[in-house]
Amino acid sequence: MKWIKWLILAVLVLFLLAGGLPILMQRNYKETLVMGDGVTRVFKLSDYFEPLKGTIGDTNIYEFKGQAEGGKMLIIAGTHESEVSAMVTAFLFIENLKTEAGTVYVIPHFNYSGSLGTQPGGGYPLYYTIPTPWGEKKFRLGDRGLQALDQWPDPDVYVHYPDGQLLSYIDARNTNRTWPGRPNGTMGERITYAAMEMIRNEKIDVVIDLHEAETMFPVTNCIVAPERSKNYAVGAALYVKGREKFESHVEPSPSNFRGLSHREVGDYSDALVFLLEAPCVHLDQISGPKTNDLMIVGKDPFINVAAEKGLLFVPIDERGWTIERRVGQQSSVIQEIVNQFNRKNPERKILFTAPKHAEVVEKGMGTFFKDPEKAAESRIAFE
Ligand SMILES: [Zn+2]
Repeated sequence: MKWIKWLILAVLVLFLLAGGLPILMQRNYKETLVMGDGVTRVFKLSDYFEPLKGTIGDTNIYEFKGQAEGGKMLIIAGTHESEVSAMVTAFLFIENLKTEAGTVYVIPHFNYSGSLGTQPGGGYPLYYTIPTPWGEKKFRLGDRGLQALDQWPDPDVYVHYPDGQLLSYIDARNTNRTWPGRPNGTMGERITYAAMEMIRNEKIDVVIDLHEAETMFPVTNCIVAPERSKNYAVGAALYVKGREKFESHVEPSPSNFRGLSHREVGDYSDALVFLLEAPCVHLDQISGPKTNDLMIVGKDPFINVAAEKGLLFVPIDERGWTIERRVGQQSSVIQEIVNQFNRKNPERKILFTAPKHAEVVEKGMGTFFKDPEKAAESRIAFE
C-alpha cells in the first residue's frame, strides 16, 4: 500500500503548486508604465527616511517639476491597493501630466506591500486589465492593508501612536490608520513616518490621498477634509458640480478618529490635506462575482436591486460606475482643489494639465496609455 502514500503526497504537492504558484507570480509581476514628458525625476520614499531603503515599505515617487517656481503637491495612490481608480489615476498622471509652475509628486503604490496580493478569501482576480488601442494593460490587484507576510504578527488590539486610541487589530496593517507614524514602529508606521518627513522637508502645500469606497458606505463620492482644508474642498465640490456636472460632496474629517491621512497630515504638518473617495461597486459585499468587468465597467445586478430599495449612497444609472467616470472624477477634483489653492495662494501657484472627467469618459481610459513596445527605453518604468 506504499503507493497510496506516494499518491497522496503527489496530490498534495499538485494542490500546493496550483494554489501557490499564481500567488508567487503575482507577487513578482511588474507593471509597465510609459512615463510622459512631464516626469522630471523618479526617486524613492526612503530618500526621506533611510531605514526604509531596500525594504518592502519603500516605493517610487514620480516628480513633475515645472519651469516656473511655485507650490508643491503630493498625490498618494495605493494606500488601499484594492481601490482601483486611485492607482489608475496615478498611472494616468505618470503618463500624461505636464507641469508649468510648481512641483507635483505622485506615489502610485504608497502601500507597496498591499499591491502584492489580493484579499485572502475575497474571491478577487489577481490582476485587472484595461483595454487600450494596442492591447490589454495589466496591473496587480492588491489588498487594503500590508500583506501579513510583510508585517506579522497582528496585535490583539492596535494601539495608535501617538494618540493611544484603540483600533481594530486589522488596522495595524492599514496605512490609513498608521499616520503620522514613527521611525521605530511597524512597517506601516515607518511608511507613513517617511511620508510625513517628505511633507515636512519639502514643505508640501497640498496632499491628496486617493481612495474609492463602496456605494453602500456613507463616506463615498466625496472629499474628506479637516478644518483647515474645508473651504478649499467646498469650493472644489461646487465647481465640479457647476462646470463638470458631477457630484462630489464634502465630509468633515472627525478630530476624534485617529490615524487617518485627512486628520494626521494636517495636524502634524503645515500641508492642506484632502482624501478623495470615488464610488465603486466591486468592494460592495453584495455585488456578484468579483470579475475584471465589475472593477472596470462597474455594473452589477445586485447593486441595481439595492439601488431600487434605496440602500445606496450614490445614484446608479445605465452608465455604471466605470473606471473612466471614477478616474475622471479623481482627476477633475484634484485639479479643482488646486484651482482653489492657487486662488488663495497666488505666490505658491501650482499649474499643471491632465485629462479631466469629460475627456476621460469620452475617449476611454485605454487611450491615455502608451504602448511600451513603441516607447523609448529611458521612458519605461516598472512598478
Ligand atoms: Zn480606501
